[in-house]
Amino acid sequence: MKSYADVIIVGARVAGASLAVLLGRMGKKVVMVDKASFPSDTLSTHYLSHLEYLSKLDVLEEVEAAGLRKVNRMRTYIGNSFVEGPRSSYTIIPRRERLDYILVNKALSYPTVELKQGWQAVSLIKERQRVRGVRIKDRKGRKQVLCAPLVVGADGKHSMVAKWSGAEQYAEHSPVRPVFYGYFHNVRPLIEPATEIFLQEGRIGFLFPMEPGVDCLGLEVLPDEFVEIAREPKRFEEIYRQLYGMNNRLKGASLKGRIIGTPGVPNYFRTAGGEGWALIGDAGHSKDPSTGLGINDAFMQAFLMAEAIEQREKGEPWDDLVHKFQTERDVRLGPGYRLTLDYIQSRRELSHNEDALFQAMAANPMVWNKVVPHLPELLKQQSIPTLYQSVEHEARSFGFDYS
Ligand SMILES: Cc1cc2nc3c(=O)[nH]c(=O)nc-3n(C[C@H](O)[C@H](O)[C@H](O)COP(=O)(O)OP(=O)(O)OC[C@H]3O[C@@H](n4cnc5c(N)ncnc54)[C@H](O)[C@@H]3O)c2cc1C
Repeated sequence: MKSYADVIIVGARVAGASLAVLLGRMGKKVVMVDKASFPSDTLSTHYLSHLEYLSKLDVLEEVEAAGLRKVNRMRTYIGNSFVEGPRSSYTIIPRRERLDYILVNKALSYPTVELKQGWQAVSLIKERQRVRGVRIKDRKGRKQVLCAPLVVGADGKHSMVAKWSGAEQYAEHSPVRPVFYGYFHNVRPLIEPATEIFLQEGRIGFLFPMEPGVDCLGLEVLPDEFVEIAREPKRFEEIYRQLYGMNNRLKGASLKGRIIGTPGVPNYFRTAGGEGWALIGDAGHSKDPSTGLGINDAFMQAFLMAEAIEQREKGEPWDDLVHKFQTERDVRLGPGYRLTLDYIQSRRELSHNEDALFQAMAANPMVWNKVVPHLPELLKQQSIPTLYQSVEHEARSFGFDYS
């Protein structure tokens, strides 16, 4: 079979387009296939935990040029109290419509990269169990066959490439929480913008200050609240107004567009590849979005996959490379996965007394004077080890000294 490209990538968002950028840089002939046409939005908020990948992909400046806020504080509310602090680096919250489009265009700036948008992959071409390419069709029903030595599924959590290639799912956990979000204009801002997280009545509220006058507001709610909010989206705002300070801050604010939601996001790892195929991004690993790691994880996998493809050119067997990719992926993403599952599963409504005591302690400096020196020990004893490790890691940028 004559190859159309070195690599076919199904899915051209954060995972697929960033892999195409890296392969384009290496001079590889790449074709991205996506059933969407860009620019287009997708079901996702867009808190970016780390920005170094955008910088390495050489798109950070362009993403920031839209006038996004650089947010370097985080505030966590419990009832009517809150704790706020600096983060070791700033974050930005670019809409997916724009972020994905910038990445796609970056990839297309390399002459060897092509995009077939509005084309859906409908099946894999296999020869003696080895994947040789994909069959695609467009919205008018026209069909085409594309062959390549490698097909990468970057086609998200409902990945058909994963299904057709028989990728196995492991360490899985069914969706825990429904998520809803929407874009609001003119929410009264904090003096200094912060990512705001509200832990209230077993729910998690989040406010991402995207740019002056525009915020992304979200709620992870209890499973039995999904139908109610999906049927009556006004409930979203009613619940949001119960969060501390939000009734006032939402006066004069308006929803732009609609409230978007999902009953929940599946949690799993999948086999990362086999003969002639591989998976990156949500296609290979997905988790509840409460910790805002998915986009960053997709970038990380694109970088690892580009390395594997480079090594393959040097003659290393693909089986070994995929095995290494999967091991490295799972080692790097395992801690965030465990933290996310622990966070979302242990989230519960505080009892009346727990809440009353916390409100009384939060406003008492003598309590904090006594408690702060013991917090690290307490966290070590009470938490899963990775939580303390991640705190210690972040503390280094505030001068924490291991010695
Ligand atoms: C409600 C919600 C909120 C989230 N919030 C955050 C957050 O704040 N921060 C964060 O980091 N992460 C967040 N995430 C996670 C994040 O959205 C994902 O991790 C990320 O989108 C994964 O990117 P991807 O490129 O792997 O897949 P996707 O973004 O899902 O892209 C897959 C692409 O594949 C295409 N495709 C699928 N099937 C085919 C086919 N057969 N043929 C052709 N094309 C196909 C689709 O059209 C799509 O464009 C959130 C997720 C959800 C659901």
